[in-house]
Amino acid sequence: MSKKTKYIFVTGGVTSSLGKGILAASLAKLVQARGYRVTIQKLDPYINIDPGTLNPYEHGECFVTDDGAETDLDLGHYERYLNIPTSQANNVTTGRIYQSVINKERRGEYLGKTVQVIPHITNEIKRTVRLLGDSGDYDIIITEIGGTVGDIESLPYIEAVRQMKWEHVDDVLVVHLTLLPYLQTTGELKTKPTQHSVKTLLESGVQPDILVCRSHMNISDSIRNKIALFCNVALDSVIESIDAESIYDVPLLMKDEKLDQVVLRKLKLDLGDEPELLVWREFLKRLKNPAKEITIGLVGKYVELKDSYKSIAESFIHAGTANNCKVNVEWIHSQDIEKGDVNEILKGLDGILVAPGFGKRGIDGKITATQYARENNIPFLGICLGMQCAVIEFARNVLNKENAHSTEIDPDTESPVIGLMDDQQTVTDMGGTMRLGQYPCKVKENTLAAGIYKDSKIMERHRHRYEFNNSYLQEFEAAGMIASGRNPDSDLVEIVELKDHPWFVGVQFHPEYKSTVSNPHLLFVNFIKAAVKSSELEA
Ligand code: GLN
Repeated sequence: MSKKTKYIFVTGGVTSSLGKGILAASLAKLVQARGYRVTIQKLDPYINIDPGTLNPYEHGECFVTDDGAETDLDLGHYERYLNIPTSQANNVTTGRIYQSVINKERRGEYLGKTVQVIPHITNEIKRTVRLLGDSGDYDIIITEIGGTVGDIESLPYIEAVRQMKWEHVDDVLVVHLTLLPYLQTTGELKTKPTQHSVKTLLESGVQPDILVCRSHMNISDSIRNKIALFCNVALDSVIESIDAESIYDVPLLMKDEKLDQVVLRKLKLDLGDEPELLVWREFLKRLKNPAKEITIGLVGKYVELKDSYKSIAESFIHAGTANNCKVNVEWIHSQDIEKGDVNEILKGLDGILVAPGFGKRGIDGKITATQYARENNIPFLGICLGMQCAVIEFARNVLNKENAHSTEIDPDTESPVIGLMDDQQTVTDMGGTMRLGQYPCKVKENTLAAGIYKDSKIMERHRHRYEFNNSYLQEFEAAGMIASGRNPDSDLVEIVELKDHPWFVGVQFHPEYKSTVSNPHLLFVNFIKAAVKSSELEA
């Protein structure tokens, strides 16, 4: 560990879903605003090597980094708050830890020793955490440990934390996030579950330094005193985290509770200047005082679990704010469109987004929604599979290629307008083998895309195996669907748009992964702008 790097671990107690990711991101935002170079890491205690092969119903969206890592959606929050990119090193699972240890064992690196959870797995966990610190790029590493203390699968992580705390007394801090449930019958906040979760940590030899207590009402001084005394933490280290209207309120709520000051003092770091967080505050002001409202239909097949489209939903919030507009999202199941009346389901929307996805289920509904947007001049954004749907729909209904399809869905289609990329032809493994991460895209002059990006070369993130079949490009362009963005090396079509439509864009990449509070993504900002315009025309 380099001398200067400080490590903060964020653990969770009592229940899951308390918002460790948002807490970690909020704390990071505050110390960043005080001048520290900070990054956030997530350790996930499951055995999958990464979430790339997971169904979105399991843990929500798979977030993709510049370097092509398929990661937990919390990394999206980290980037949206900090406005700096993360990488593979920022998300590590138990599967990856074990894979690395087993590979070392096969290479004979353990010199004949018995390979065990302690010390080999815990050493690998510590190495993973220190890797970011040793890069020299950061003053503070915040590591969020997935799951809830007491889970069998998080034990090696907690043991690694204990060791790091013991090895570097002044450089390691544990922030424990817990819940104070409210008992309606007695009208009180209860502290016992918090006491028990701290005890569980203590059984593993870890005394938390700071307790952040989720609660839906203010915490009285007497309860703060009680928690401090029974959980063995300083009074100023009992932090209230009251339910917030928006996740973007949390940094300011944590600032009011002086979480950043307590953290820096305990780590023996200067407080630096009091942060003003002007950009953040301006963003919140706009978010809470929209001048207008619009409704966008998000057509997908995982809409029952909104976390499946987390980055898209957050991009709408950023883009809405940039337009002084509240974006209501209507979550539309693509299979409902297959069963019902599309005109009825999509009527009144100011814009339609067709979401990314894989496989056959719900694809017909997506294609129908695309046709509806095209024919009714409704602003349309198709992302990845959504762009592919736009291509298929155009082929079928404008180019009269009745059975046009993607070979992902219909391998024997007469008109394979979307086909498997060449370098995917021999791929058999599912994990980590897609075209992943950031690639350049050249934007064609005098197109809608060029007007939006105001740049001829852009970089966007990808996650796909199929692509536009370039042998059809001339036909498409002659009929009005043009390729306004292409990869400069492979010619792969990255952006399609319609000439005769107010705003119709399909992108093979995922702009949602790059939208942040201080840098709302231009494509989303412009899409919302078009949707606002469309709503004004209707009115
Ligand atoms: N299934 C499509 C492909 O692999 C689209 C992927 C996506 O939407 N992320 O190309």
